[in-house]
Amino acid sequence: MKTHSRAARATTDSPIRKMFNLASRMTDVISFTVGEPDFPTPDNIVQAAIRALREGQTHYTLNAGILPLRQAIAEATERSHGLRYDPEGEVMATVGGMQALMLLMLALVDPGDEVIISDPYWPNYVGQVKACGGVPVLVKVREEDGFVFDPGQVRKAVTPRTRILLVNSPANPTGGVAGREVLRALAELAVERDLVVVSDEVYRHFLYDGAEFVSIATFPGMRERTFVVDSFSKTYAMTGWRVGWAAGPAEVIRNMVKLQENVAACVNSATQYAAIEALRGSQEPLRRMLEEYAQRRTLLLGEIAGIERLSCVPPKGAFYALMNISRTGLNSEAFATRLITEKAVAVVPGTGFGEEGEGLVRLSYATSRERIREGFARIKAFVEGL
Ligand code: PLP
Repeated sequence: MKTHSRAARATTDSPIRKMFNLASRMTDVISFTVGEPDFPTPDNIVQAAIRALREGQTHYTLNAGILPLRQAIAEATERSHGLRYDPEGEVMATVGGMQALMLLMLALVDPGDEVIISDPYWPNYVGQVKACGGVPVLVKVREEDGFVFDPGQVRKAVTPRTRILLVNSPANPTGGVAGREVLRALAELAVERDLVVVSDEVYRHFLYDGAEFVSIATFPGMRERTFVVDSFSKTYAMTGWRVGWAAGPAEVIRNMVKLQENVAACVNSATQYAAIEALRGSQEPLRRMLEEYAQRRTLLLGEIAGIERLSCVPPKGAFYALMNISRTGLNSEAFATRLITEKAVAVVPGTGFGEEGEGLVRLSYATSRERIREGFARIKAFVEGL
């Protein structure tokens, strides 16, 4: 009996999930693992889903998602990006940003096609590309550059097999935010070499220290070659609802919609109504959550600065920090393993995000200030005891 397809063989367990699963079996653990907002979903959004269920919205919907949701997405994208997408043909609701990315890979990648990804990277990108038989081509982004692509290095990585350039800004796991000039250079390269760009913008609201979000889709010649991926998960604390979207050229969106019929048929229907409320309803809960993330980040950076042998380049976006542990004498894996075993604090070893992650561990600060304080009291005791 054959038990392993090529896709299954190409897929490895997520290093984030590995630590998360370990942490969830322990009591009294402080977990800085998954990128999951700890806030409840704002009540107006929950109420919209309840209303939809009561009104009988319990059936399959169109594969692309209900039109009012796609219209709300198109309006929101016009406001944020100044770009118009046709809700009927250029927008698709997906099962989280994750599914938008997977459907894009399924729609665009043939075996042997190359996809350029930054290293450190979010592991799912590599998993998705490999599952489609594609080849992830990793381009290092360095701590001293704020973990942002060096366009010259990206240019060197382009070959005749390059199909997609994947841009994730603000980034997971680094918190790096690409500036306008870097994005302009990447956009010019994409036009020159006829690349598709996938712009994963799920953290675009999470910005600090005056950082500005710019979408690569807005540069000349990019609207027609870029797929914007966004999600409700992080922005509206809706990870468990599973809804996101993709917007971009119609031909590919049409193929993604076709593929969706064989994958999930559609996003959960009540969730789609909740998502409309998220975009059209009050943005005040979002504003309050963003304010709290900024406070947590300040607290976390202060805690790291207070511990000798630890350091951190202040992340400009998202809700992750890559903490440098190289002066502790431990490598990332040993640091994370010993920290959870000895002090019940879970972090993700940087090597789970690629070779460039050695010497770093990732902390998600989507957790309360109280837990950040307690976690760092333990981390301090751990490092001092080494
Ligand atoms: N993109 C990045 C960079 C992420 O970190 C995540 C989640 O961790 C996603 C996309 C997808 O999230 P979701 O499928 O919940 O929208």
